[in-house]
Amino acid sequence: MQMGYGLNRGMLKLYSVILTLFIASLLSANGTLDFDLIKKGQENNNTLLVIGGIQGDEPGGFISASLLATHYEITEGSLWIVPNLNFYSIIKRSRGPYGDMNRKFAYLSKSDPEYDTIQRIKSYIQSDKVKLIVNLHDGSGFYRKNYEDKDHSPYKWGQCSIIDQKTIKIDKYSNLKEISSQVVEHVNANLLRDEDRYHTHNTKTREGDKEMEKTLTYFAINNSKAAFGNEASKNLPTHERAYYHLLALEKYMDIVGIKYKRNFKLTPNGIYHAINDDIYISLYDGKIKLPLSQIRDSLKYFPIKKDAEVEFKASNPLLHIVKRGNIYTIHYGNRQLAKLKADYQEYDKPNNVVTLEVDGKLKEVMFGSIIDVEKSFLVKDANDYRINVIGFTNKSKIETNIKIKKTQIAKRFSVDKKGYVYRIEYYLGKKFAGMVLVKFKN
Ligand SMILES: [Zn+2]
Repeated sequence: MQMGYGLNRGMLKLYSVILTLFIASLLSANGTLDFDLIKKGQENNNTLLVIGGIQGDEPGGFISASLLATHYEITEGSLWIVPNLNFYSIIKRSRGPYGDMNRKFAYLSKSDPEYDTIQRIKSYIQSDKVKLIVNLHDGSGFYRKNYEDKDHSPYKWGQCSIIDQKTIKIDKYSNLKEISSQVVEHVNANLLRDEDRYHTHNTKTREGDKEMEKTLTYFAINNSKAAFGNEASKNLPTHERAYYHLLALEKYMDIVGIKYKRNFKLTPNGIYHAINDDIYISLYDGKIKLPLSQIRDSLKYFPIKKDAEVEFKASNPLLHIVKRGNIYTIHYGNRQLAKLKADYQEYDKPNNVVTLEVDGKLKEVMFGSIIDVEKSFLVKDANDYRINVIGFTNKSKIETNIKIKKTQIAKRFSVDKKGYVYRIEYYLGKKFAGMVLVKFKN
């Protein structure tokens, strides 16, 4: 199998649906980062809009929205997902570098650095196609109607479904309280522990909650849209927060008639693996593909294109590359996965097929492939390529037509932390042509 790296091979085909092109220097002049709008299913006038990442320090919410984008296939209905609304704050791992974005929906000065972001998300909320909106948050503690103790009280925001008012005068989805109750009931039928119990929290915004009047959901309500907040508790680990968000989201999809196939088990463990396995970034038209789930903190002498912006495609909308000097840092939501230390190179244009002998069998592989190896591989001479197996040294300085085993490559040069994945780099003259990775069996 060509993409034979990772645990859940069946998922790989879903990723291709959303491969999104980012360019590292997309940081706009005012220091923000554009968010993604991912449309799934068949667009119609009964669209569910799911928003994650309005505050960058709430990973349960934005990871859930992102899993919905990457690991669900929508077979009926229309789903729009914004998994990274405040992308800059997600990458910065800060609640709001320019203040709380969820207080910018009533009045906002045109000089606010997030003005364009707010205008853009408002236009999606106002779209005639959108009928129901869910905004995902992680809140502290556990919301309870009555005070129990400092972590379980009416002042806590974790584990609840939020509405601004009981009903709204619209044709469909007008009974907000009833819809919220259905969601709460569905979540509570699947609790991991009794403490996590959900409740509906009606903020009664119209009755004078000055803070809530400035929020995204209240803006939606005022634009005649059914809108809900969904909160998981910051007291839970991220994959358990995502478990509750996804339970709620699946119920919302049921309510609007969206049918889906999920490509992992909806359990904390299933979600943990969906978040952490099979994440990739590919660079420069696929000449290089990096598996990220076990990547080293730092990769040295990495061939980065000279005098150009770094172009990449990611398997997940929360992936991003930030350049600082000659260091290119790969971010995944709140986490820094790896730093690539640039070895600036001219790039050869075409993407090519080269030949390897893998465990005695000849294989034609494209640049950007990741090849499973049981015992040994041998790189065939190809065209005029100069070939460098990173971490392998040979007295004759020639690295082709020699069987290479894992023990012959210095482990510190592996791409992954555990020492299974190695780089074969192809050069033509002084130009970098492409990279193939070999992945030895565990
Ligand atoms: Zn929040």
